[in-house]
Amino acid sequence: MTTYNFAAGPAVLPKTVLEQVQKEMLNFKNSNMSILEISHRSDLFTTVYQSAKQRLLALMALSPVDYDVLFLQGGATLQFTMLPLNLATKYHRVAYLDSGHWSARAIEEAAKLKDLTVDVLTSSEDNHYTNIPEFPEVLEDTYDYLHITTNNTIEGTAYWSLPETKTPLVADMSSNFLGQTYPYEAFDVIYAGAQKNLAPAGLTIVVIKKALLQQTADNLPSMLDYTALAKKDSALNTPPVFQIYVADLVLQWLEQQGGVAAMTAINQQKAACLYDFLDQSKLFHTPVQKTARSLMNIPFLTDDPAVDQDVITKASAAGLLNLKGHRLVGGLRASLYNAMSLEGVQALVTFLKAYEQRQ
Ligand code: PMP
Repeated sequence: MTTYNFAAGPAVLPKTVLEQVQKEMLNFKNSNMSILEISHRSDLFTTVYQSAKQRLLALMALSPVDYDVLFLQGGATLQFTMLPLNLATKYHRVAYLDSGHWSARAIEEAAKLKDLTVDVLTSSEDNHYTNIPEFPEVLEDTYDYLHITTNNTIEGTAYWSLPETKTPLVADMSSNFLGQTYPYEAFDVIYAGAQKNLAPAGLTIVVIKKALLQQTADNLPSMLDYTALAKKDSALNTPPVFQIYVADLVLQWLEQQGGVAAMTAINQQKAACLYDFLDQSKLFHTPVQKTARSLMNIPFLTDDPAVDQDVITKASAAGLLNLKGHRLVGGLRASLYNAMSLEGVQALVTFLKAYEQRQ
């Protein structure tokens, strides 16, 4: 049976990448060792690291003169703390737009830090996060940064334009990283847990303007210090070698697909396939407002939780896996990351149509 994995993360990876990992597992680049066994200081690994870094910046059309990339651990969640620790050095004030559960978590963690004012400028919580919050008036340079969450994994919304700001713009891009294109140079920091569009869990990407690295806080614990980490090519301690290796392969795969803009066009086609069905369905609907719809995570439901559960169970038996919505919102959710094929989405829509007809 053909199966399709609609999980929100860890999530589907390109099959050709998994096959290459399998092929190289026992003998990496004629070393007679596995990638799992080699030193992070070896040429074998530093070549992989540099390749991943260069490919990532090139795919985002960012210059290595202006931007650095850190390959870290601790998930996107640790960045909720590292960001304010490193960057809130001038005004000791940071601004957030609250667009969903994960932005609220980022706000919550920043608020724990001493001597820091955290202002939530706008929020879409009153609308149950079914849209993106209003943008504030052009934000003057009175904050150390403005933080947004470009894609809201649980609620299924995404930013289709960016707020205008004179303060540094910082984004949690975990769930649409390299899956929805942005003018990446508009951002001063982009961070993302890798386990959706890039690699297995255990790797976090931080893309940061080099100019900011000169202004980070002094005397931070080294493992929390962007500047110290950048100076050592993210290898202050042993980096997640295997995850970085897989990320490099996924980046090569993304290049072969034509890059981020081409991938976005494919993702638009995939998402439209499901949204078009949901919009005309009499059984299923999505609560997300049209202008804010995510390409990556599509929550939907019927009006009956028992029917939702029945759909999930029967879909799973038919090879359409991990469609259960997040426990905070219930219903169903289909995550259509880069490695999900159009055939997978078509199979899902065919199944949902047939289910509806049987009702
Ligand atoms: N931000 C967003 C948008 C997410 O979707 C997630 C995880 N689902 C996180 C942050 C937390 O990521 P991590 O598990 O890597 O800490």
